[in-house]
Amino acid sequence: MKVFVTGGAGYIGSITVEQLIKAGDEVIVFDNLYQGHRDAVHPAAIFIQGDLKDRAAIDAALAAHRPDAIMHFASYTLVGESMERPFLYLGDNVVNGVNLLQSALAHGVKKFILSSTANLFDKPERIPIDEDERIIPGSPYGESKNILERILYWLDRTQGMRYACLRYFNACGASEERGEHHEPETHIIPLVLQVALGQREEFCIFGDDYPTPDGTCIRDYIHVIDLANAHILALRALDGGSRTYNLGNGRGFSVKEVVETARAVTGHPIPTRVVGRRPGDPAVLVASSEKIRRELGWTPQYPDLRTIIETAWRWHRTHPHGYAK
Ligand code: UDP
Repeated sequence: MKVFVTGGAGYIGSITVEQLIKAGDEVIVFDNLYQGHRDAVHPAAIFIQGDLKDRAAIDAALAAHRPDAIMHFASYTLVGESMERPFLYLGDNVVNGVNLLQSALAHGVKKFILSSTANLFDKPERIPIDEDERIIPGSPYGESKNILERILYWLDRTQGMRYACLRYFNACGASEERGEHHEPETHIIPLVLQVALGQREEFCIFGDDYPTPDGTCIRDYIHVIDLANAHILALRALDGGSRTYNLGNGRGFSVKEVVETARAVTGHPIPTRVVGRRPGDPAVLVASSEKIRRELGWTPQYPDLRTIIETAWRWHRTHPHGYAK
């Protein structure tokens, strides 16, 4: 297939591109390099530097390359930032997604994979969280993804768009060549590993007064290659109809457990300090991925936290400054 990947220079996008190319697909990456890195783009992919604000640029790219499907990773993605700058999310994330969808339909592209989020579930009634859980977005970020999910639902009913919404829990880990590099970095595993690399003095734990066994937040950490493979399985299944999946490992780890595991992997003491809670963070998010396992036969290759952190550590040690030259 020919796949148009927005955000294909970013963390999850670039590793999905790598997996698509391994699977024999042709890839066109469309990315504004706001958070993405040119060097993260697989050399076999066509690269277009463009912005989803620019409808004409999307039109030109789709007209030139005529893809079979779109994977839409490009997005503002930070819960905390969205609480401070809601319109970046409720405005730009939504408008950019709508631009892309309008252009897709104008060019006859009717297969679409959306990166969605566990932040749809701020007050889950059951853990692990399955697809029937009530949607209560935890932040403007989560709401922006909820709006795009709803738009896709209506485009399926009215325009024949076939979509998959993949709600990621906590993506982490690295492939041999690609890993996680955000500026500024806000994610737990790269931050903890930066302490082990001597680039930071300590790791700040955002609150230890949550209603969890050790008081720190519990999250479901899923390896980025497993996420990438879920995209490819979902893409191949779209002819059978639209679908929505929660994607995690089905097991939660607390912030303190992540730090402990990173200490074991790196051999570094990784000092920590407890600070206040981060607005928008729910206490526990753990996915049930039974549905995608059952329907698509998805099976994570990297289910355990130690292996996940080992792959991240290998990449951070070999790329101590990420993609920066
Ligand atoms: N976290 C933390 N300190 C940090 C960054 C993250 O304690 O400097 C916690 C955060 O509160 C959450 C977990 O680590 O419970 C994962 O956060 P991350 O930002 O990596 O992903 P998110 O859950 O926001 O998608």
